[in-house]
Amino acid sequence: MTKKIIIIGGGIAGLSTGIYARINGYDTTIFEKHSKPGGLCTSWHRKGFIFDYCIHNLAGTGNLELREVWNELGAFEGTEIIDHEVFTRVEDSKGNELNIYTDLDRLERHMKEIAPEDSKTIEEYVKAGKSLSSANFFSMDMGGTLSKLKIVPHMPKAMKWGKITLNNYAEKFNNEFLKRAFPHVQYDMSTSNIPMFPHLLFFIWF
Ligand SMILES: Cc1cc2nc3c(=O)[nH]c(=O)nc-3n(C[C@H](O)[C@H](O)[C@H](O)COP(=O)(O)OP(=O)(O)OC[C@H]3O[C@@H](n4cnc5c(N)ncnc54)[C@H](O)[C@@H]3O)c2cc1C
Repeated sequence: MTKKIIIIGGGIAGLSTGIYARINGYDTTIFEKHSKPGGLCTSWHRKGFIFDYCIHNLAGTGNLELREVWNELGAFEGTEIIDHEVFTRVEDSKGNELNIYTDLDRLERHMKEIAPEDSKTIEEYVKAGKSLSSANFFSMDMGGTLSKLKIVPHMPKAMKWGKITLNNYAEKFNNEFLKRAFPHVQYDMSTSNIPMFPHLLFFIWF
């Protein structure tokens, strides 16, 4: 007899659960209270514009185990994945630009061109990103105990960078433009005082 599963909610999690359940031979029903599926990951058309409610970038398009999941779910079929050279760009009214390049060596050169006086801080920032880029925080749940253990050596760094906000770190720069621009490097979330750690985690995808 086919086993049945009921899934409450048709967001990405519910839809993915439904697909994996079907792959594994279950009879599935997804209940969604909204008029269409997608949950937070939803876009809509209005007056000739597309409003993309959430996705700035799709987690897991890089060469990680997560990409395997998107492939299994069929999410990439017919979709071109674009790996941008610049993650975020902050500009001021005088034409100064801070580009967070996804190539970290290029990022370091660019920041040093803007502010040679801040070389030490820039090197510390890029080094922190590089050192975390080998830590597979995003897919540690997918590879069993060994994957989780591999994260352990990185925990002190996670704790250190979890205590410093982007606003705090911006204060380390002597250059006035970097001081003002840096709090905005993680999209537009500067008012939320987010810690450096989640920002540095994006270096894994870069
Ligand atoms: C502003 C914003 C920006 C984001 N940017 C990114 C990004 O750049 N990259 C990225 O990877 N992720 C991003 N995210 C996160 C991502 O969108 C979410 O993590 C993901 O969509 C969550 O999916 P979910 O299925 O867990 O939950 P949800 O999307 O919340 O889905 C839950 C679903 O359950 C339904 N539901 C709830 N209760 C019931 C009920 N009782 N009965 C029936 N249905 C019910 C809801 O209507 C909803 O459809 C962003 C999110 C936001 C809000």
